[in-house]
Amino acid sequence: MSNFYLESVPPSILHKILSKVATNHIRDFGSARIAFSGFNQIGRDDYFYQSANLFGFNDWIEEVNAVRTFRLRCYQAGNPEAIYLRGMHEFFQLHLLDEGIEKIRLAAERGLELAKFVDGMLNLAFSVDDGGLFHNYPNFSREFVHRMNCMIRTVLPSGHWGYEKPQEFMSLLERIKNLIFSNDCRCSSAIEEPVLWCDRCFWQCEVWDFCNEIHLTAANWPIED
Ligand SMILES: [Zn+2]
Repeated sequence: MSNFYLESVPPSILHKILSKVATNHIRDFGSARIAFSGFNQIGRDDYFYQSANLFGFNDWIEEVNAVRTFRLRCYQAGNPEAIYLRGMHEFFQLHLLDEGIEKIRLAAERGLELAKFVDGMLNLAFSVDDGGLFHNYPNFSREFVHRMNCMIRTVLPSGHWGYEKPQEFMSLLERIKNLIFSNDCRCSSAIEEPVLWCDRCFWQCEVWDFCNEIHLTAANWPIED
């Protein structure tokens, strides 16, 4: 069968099409590469794996090996989403805290906003002292927090709950108490309007929510390399 139409499509568009195909169904990704040499060419290129969308990836369980190979290739090509997902898996499921945070931070440095958010919130959580006071406030805005929370709740695949969080993390949660307004500020008179809250109350509330409902988005990450 001739691919007359596809042959006239610019490579950048072919790249986008193949990327969407791979995200939707890994089997179609393989079929597309067999059907048209232009797709196959792009599917060999490291650049393709660097920018592939893994957050929306359908990890079909009947295609475990193909999914694993695809993710591994993305990770090796330096794809920030792959680095982030693997960091989250290491941190929360394998309890390799240092390795995990290192990868999450690397993904943040490579421009992944979600990784920047998670890195900042973990940093904030771990800065809590015995009296429940925080010392490392993130350098992003409240608007950014709002945007990331919306993204986590709407765009990302559902979280994976069948795992045990690391002990270090659980003992943090005991110190990060759910928000009790202090007498030093007037936030308690504006309970319904968090935009008016002082920094202390705002971040206390956010960090509690973040730690309490952490979304992994890495349910089936495990890969061997
Ligand atoms: Zn306050």
